[in-house]
Order: sequence, then structure tokens, then C-alpha cells
Amino acid sequence: MFELVQLRFGARFRRAGHPDTLAPVSASAPFPQTDIWLATPRGYCAGVDRAIDVVDLAIDLYGPPVYVRHEIVHNHFVVEQLKARGACFVEDLDDVPEGSTIVFSAHGVSPAVRAHAERRRLRPIDATCPLVTKVHLEAVRFAGQGYWLLLVGHDGHAEVEGTMGEVPERTILIQTVEDAERVQVPDETRIAYLTQTTLSIDETKGILDVLRRRFPGIRGPGREDICYATTNRQNAVKELAARCDLVLVVGSPISSNSNRLAEVARAAGVEAHRIDSARDLKPEWLLGKRSIGITSGASTPESLVRELVSLLEARGAGPARDLNVTEENVSFRLPGVLARDVEKSERATELLSRYKRTATTR
Ligand code: SF4
Repeated sequence: MFELVQLRFGARFRRAGHPDTLAPVSASAPFPQTDIWLATPRGYCAGVDRAIDVVDLAIDLYGPPVYVRHEIVHNHFVVEQLKARGACFVEDLDDVPEGSTIVFSAHGVSPAVRAHAERRRLRPIDATCPLVTKVHLEAVRFAGQGYWLLLVGHDGHAEVEGTMGEVPERTILIQTVEDAERVQVPDETRIAYLTQTTLSIDETKGILDVLRRRFPGIRGPGREDICYATTNRQNAVKELAARCDLVLVVGSPISSNSNRLAEVARAAGVEAHRIDSARDLKPEWLLGKRSIGITSGASTPESLVRELVSLLEARGAGPARDLNVTEENVSFRLPGVLARDVEKSERATELLSRYKRTATTR
């Protein structure tokens, strides 16, 4: 269905600094002899990298405005930078002029949204992460075999809305262990579970243990839905928690995977805070700390981490050192329609060299 390919590219967002993020931590609070550990991997995953490139490339290729349904990824610094380039973010497709190009975000959309785009004669470019698409396809497959679906995830999250929208009449959302204990299914002999891709691995295991106890014949996905990036970042934050007395997670409040990273660190027994940027840092968190661990969610630009590190180092902490836990080498191809348009463009060479991405549809 899709292939992982080895691609290297340097989207401008990894390098872009944000002008408003150098934070006003009190200059009277120096932190000498405090270690700084940077978790690796952290920050952008392959799905986010691709989604940002899709919008960026679409603006370069078609010219602004390029419409995007929902925040392309859950980070408002990224969204603001794309807005400045000519992206126009909408929640309702009725707000998009007929015939326009519309990019679907990395979180995926339901068939109802696709049908809406078709009715309005929009031209969709689907930046749904292939690992989210995998979950959609599993939902359709299980439902086609007559299964009831228990989807473990968070109500209101864009990814959950998209997945539930595949077979809404046969899908029940499970958010907690209590939900798993209470859920009633019309046919207990045909139940399957799926999960959101960005959940806490440990919490999800608790929910799945309950479901497996209650429904011993329950089916699951061939390969776990919680994605490689979520898994790797949570494993890395556990390593941070084991050697630090404070963990800072850089990520937006609406970023599911960033919130889970802070929760995972707290569950490991360490003080942890999710912050949007260095601006949110509170001096009292740092007092008396000997070792500060830093990580970032899968939708967080590295520039925000670097600004936080610079700020701490300027106050005497560090220098920052890497804590390498897992190597990542995953990338996804561009969506077919965009790849074909790039290849047809007279500027193909220039665009491809700028993005260093192989624009093929294989
Ligand atoms: Fe894809 Fe995982 Fe990144 Fe979500 S967190 S966009 S599923 S790689």
C-alpha cells in the first residue's frame, strides 16, 4: 500500500527560528552545574515532515493561497509560518472556493469529508500520514468482515474523527479502562480493536488487557497501530526520566503525542512539563535541579528545542548532550497527485533540488 523510502530533505521549518520564543526567564536565576540531556529521537516524525513539505511544495508549485483542512500538524508555530507563506487553514470545506486545491492534514479525514470535497469540486491533496491510512484500511477491512470495532483513542482528536468516520455505525470509542470495563457490543463473537497512533503505550496496554479479558476472541491489527515515532519518543523519554530530575517536553497543548510524552515522564516518577516554547519556562521549575531532560513532540520544530537549550545554556546549565536511544530512518513519498504535478512542472528540477525529495509515485 505504501513504502518506506530513504529520503533526505531539509524543509525550511527545521531551520527556521521563531522570533517570539526567547523567553524572559529571570536573569537572577543562574543554573551552573546543571546537566542538559537531549532525547534522540525527538521532534518531527516522517508523517509530519511529509505533511509540512506537501503544503510548502504546493504553495511553491500552484502559488498562494493553498487551502488546508485543519491544522496540517498540531503545532501553531508551524501553522503560523505556513500562513505567512500563503496557506489558508479552514475547518469547513464550505469556506473553500469551488475548484480550489485542498490539502488534508496528517491526521486523516473521514469519507464524509472526501465526499464533501468532491461535491464542491475541490482538488484534494492527501497529506494523511500513511500510518494513519493503515488504521483506516484496517477499520474498513474488519467492518467488511462483520466485526464491531472498539477504537481506543481520544474523543475529539482529528485522527479519531477520521478513523471513526470510516465505519461510524460499527465503531465504539474507548477512552479509558473504565470504558473498556463497561462497553457492550451487539455481537461479542465478532469484535476487533484499533488504536489511535499517538497514545501512551503503557496506558493503552492497560485498556487492551481489559478488552482481551472480557472478549477473549477479540481481533487486533496485524501490526500495532501506535506508530514507530510515538513508540520511539516514549522510550526515549523514559530514558530521560531515569537520569533527570526534570523533563521538559516542547510541544503544543493540542498535540496528543506531546502530552503523552509528559505523562509518560511523570508516570516514571519525574517532574515533567509540556511547554509550547521557551517562553513558557518557569524559573521555579529549575531551582535545585541537577539534570534537565528535553524532548519534543512529533510535530515540534527543532528550532524551538534549540531556543530552549540556548536559553538554559545562557544561564549556566549544560552544555547540552545527546541521549541517543533509537536511530530513525523513515520517510514517506509525496502524495501521488502532487508528485505527478511536480514531475510535469517546468520547474521540476528546481523544486526537487529544493526539497531533495524523490517525487515519484511508486
Ligand atoms: Fe504518522 Fe506517527 Fe507521525 Fe502520526 S506521529 S504523523 S502516525 S509517523
